[in-house]
Amino acid sequence: MGVRDKTVKELLSLLGEERVLTGEEELLLYSYDGTGEEFLPWAVAFPESTNEVVKILEVAFENEVPLVPRGAGSGFTGGSLPVQGGIVLSTERMNRILEIDRDNLTAWVEPGVVTGEFQSRVESVGLFYPPDPASLAFCTLGGNVAENAGGPRAVKYGVTKDYVLGLEVVLSNGEVITTGRKVVKDVVGYNLTGLMVGSEGTLGVITRVLLRLLPLPVGRSTMLAYFKSRYHAGKAVSEVLSRGVIPVTMEFIDKSALEAVAKHAEVEVEPEVEAVLLIETDGPNSKGELELCSEVVVLHEGSFRMAESEEEREHLWRARRAISPSLVHLAPTKVNEDVVVPRSLLATALEGISRIERKVELPIVCFGHAGDGNIHVNIMTDKSDSLAWGRAMEAVDELFDLVVGLGGSISGEHGIGITKSRYISKQLSGTVLELQRGINRVFDPKGILNPGKMGV
Ligand SMILES: Cc1cc2nc3c(=O)[nH]c(=O)nc-3n(C[C@H](O)[C@H](O)[C@H](O)COP(=O)(O)OP(=O)(O)OC[C@H]3O[C@@H](n4cnc5c(N)ncnc54)[C@H](O)[C@@H]3O)c2cc1C
Repeated sequence: MGVRDKTVKELLSLLGEERVLTGEEELLLYSYDGTGEEFLPWAVAFPESTNEVVKILEVAFENEVPLVPRGAGSGFTGGSLPVQGGIVLSTERMNRILEIDRDNLTAWVEPGVVTGEFQSRVESVGLFYPPDPASLAFCTLGGNVAENAGGPRAVKYGVTKDYVLGLEVVLSNGEVITTGRKVVKDVVGYNLTGLMVGSEGTLGVITRVLLRLLPLPVGRSTMLAYFKSRYHAGKAVSEVLSRGVIPVTMEFIDKSALEAVAKHAEVEVEPEVEAVLLIETDGPNSKGELELCSEVVVLHEGSFRMAESEEEREHLWRARRAISPSLVHLAPTKVNEDVVVPRSLLATALEGISRIERKVELPIVCFGHAGDGNIHVNIMTDKSDSLAWGRAMEAVDELFDLVVGLGGSISGEHGIGITKSRYISKQLSGTVLELQRGINRVFDPKGILNPGKMGV
C-alpha cells in the first residue's frame, strides 16, 4: 500500500468517515483560499480535541506526510494551501469559547472560533477584543494568531500579537506544549508565544489560545473625510498622529476602490474626490478628538462628514468591508499586496505607487489601514494574458523595492505564505533567513508542517 492510501486509512480508523473527507469534490472545497490558487489535499481531517490533533500529527509524522492547519481558508498568501498534498487539518470543529475570565480580563478559546462571534460574546459582558480583520465574519482566531492578523483598529489597539498571552500547541511529533501564562508579566525563557504568533502553521498546530481582553470603551465618533489626491490624504494621516491624537481607525480608500464599492453599498463619489479617510475615535473624549481630526482634514484641503447615527456608521463600515470582494468586478485577476511603511512616509509611498501605476499601465487600487502605514495595493490584471501578467509582476517587484527602500515591510498583516516567499530576501538578510530555517528544523525536523511556506 502506498503512503497516501496508508495515511488515509489511518485517518479513517482514527476519526471515521464522518470526519475525514477523501472524495475529490469534497477535497476541492479545501483546496483554495483568498489567493485563488488551488492545490488538492489527500484528505481533510476534522479533529474535535487536542488529543485528536495529537493522533493526526502522529500519523503525519510517522508517514512523513505534509500536514497543513486550516482555519477558514480566508488567507491572502496561500498559507492554508496543501502545496505538496498530504493532510489538511481543519479546526472547524474546535470552535468553543472555553472561558471568559472577567477578573483577569482573559479568555481561553479553541482555534476554530470565528473572530466576529468571539468579539460579540465578550462585548455582551462588557469586555473588548480589539483585533478586527475585515474578514472577521468568517476568519478564525487560530488563523488570526498564525498570521498575526491586523485590522482597522490597530492604530490605537495594536494587532493580534498584542493580545496573545499564551498558547497550547501540538508539535510535529505529536507532543503538546503550553507557552505563556494567565499573567500580565512573564519573562521566563525565550518568548515562544511570540515565535508562534505569525508562524503560519510551520511550527506547530495551535489548539488553544489564551487571549487578553480590555474593558469595552465608552463613546465612539466616526467621520468620512474627502481629499483631492492620495498624497493629501496620506499627509493628513501623519499630521493627525503628530498632533497627539490616536484615533481607533484611519482607513484609506482611493477613488477606484470607492467606485468599485459604490455599486454595492450605495456610496456616492463626487468627481473631484480622489481619496477618502474613514476616521473613528473612541473613549470619553471621542467627539473632541474627532473635531481635531477634522481641523487637520481642512488644513489638507479636504472636507468631511460626521456620521450622525449608529446606522450611518454601520453603513460606512459595511462599505469599507465590501471593498476587497467588490474588486473582483474590475479585472479577472487581483494581485493583492499589503505593504506597510513608516507612517510619516505614507504620502511618499502613495506617490510612488501612482508612479508605478503610470509605468505599468495597469489600474492599481489602494485602500487599507493608513493609520498604521499599511496599504492594500491591488494590481488589477489578467493572469491569462502573459503581457498584462508580466507588467503586474513588474509592479509587485517595484512596489516591494519602494517600501523596503522607505524602511517599510512587504507585508503588514497577510504574511508570506507562498505568494510572497520569493520576495522575502528583499527584506530579510541571508543570515536571518538561515536562522529562521534553523528554528524551523528544531520544531519540525521532518519538514512535514505546512511545507513550502514562508521561505523556510
Ligand atoms: C475579505 C477579506 C478581508 C481581509 N481582511 C484582513 C484584514 O483586515 N487584516 C488581516 O490581517 N487579514 C485580513 N484578511 C486575511 C485573512 O482573513 C487573515 O489572514 C486571517 O487571519 C486568516 O484566518 P483563517 O481562519 O481564514 O486562516 P487560514 O486562511 O485558514 O490560515 C491562515 C494561516 O494560518 C495557519 N493556521 C490556521 N489555523 C491554525 C492553527 N490552529 N494552528 C497553526 N496554524 C494555523 C494556516 O496554516 C495558514 O498558514 C482578509 C481576508 C479576506 C478574504
